[in-house]
Amino acid sequence: MEVGKVLYPIKSLGINTRVGIWTVGCFRNCFNCSNPELQYSDKSKDASVETILESIKDFKFDGVTISGGEPFLQIKELAKLVRLINEQLHIDDILIFTGYTIKELENMNDIDVNYILSHISVLVDGPYIENLHTELPLQGSSNQVVHILNKKYEKEYKEYLSKEKTFDIFKDNNEVHFIGIPIKDYKEQYNTYLRGIRDE
Ligand code: SF4
Repeated sequence: MEVGKVLYPIKSLGINTRVGIWTVGCFRNCFNCSNPELQYSDKSKDASVETILESIKDFKFDGVTISGGEPFLQIKELAKLVRLINEQLHIDDILIFTGYTIKELENMNDIDVNYILSHISVLVDGPYIENLHTELPLQGSSNQVVHILNKKYEKEYKEYLSKEKTFDIFKDNNEVHFIGIPIKDYKEQYNTYLRGIRDE
């Protein structure tokens, strides 16, 4: 499975403490995409689902967020990843961001897509549309819908969605990561953080 980055701990892309997994490859080219570096397929980023699982299994987390790129471009691997996170890590709070709408996914009538949709907690769907930009949590633009698919998490996610959009900034292996759905002034906050760590 082509994966651009795996980061922990993430607080800004779903409830509680999470691992974030970003897949590589997306054909949409949305204007002002927040992850343009993840749009192009890259075979050098290919790793088995077992290897990805091995790299996160010792972290202490409650949920996993899978974003991209477009995770559903690697449907078979995505279904396997969801299955192994469920079965081996006993985590069922899996949130996926996709540029497809849930209707488009359901209409694919694909056994793996159906498996994914019935084994994740949340799907945030639809492409990013710049002129519909929103500051609501978990959404980049207002066309995107947060579908809570596992009713067990409905209360917690509704509460999370009633709060302000947040983001994580941290240093990992000498790289600085800004994680979260971009808010309007995120560049300013990012630069303030960079100035802070330069002055340390
Ligand atoms: S669907 Fe997401 S990853 Fe793909 S181009 Fe749009 S914003 Fe970027």
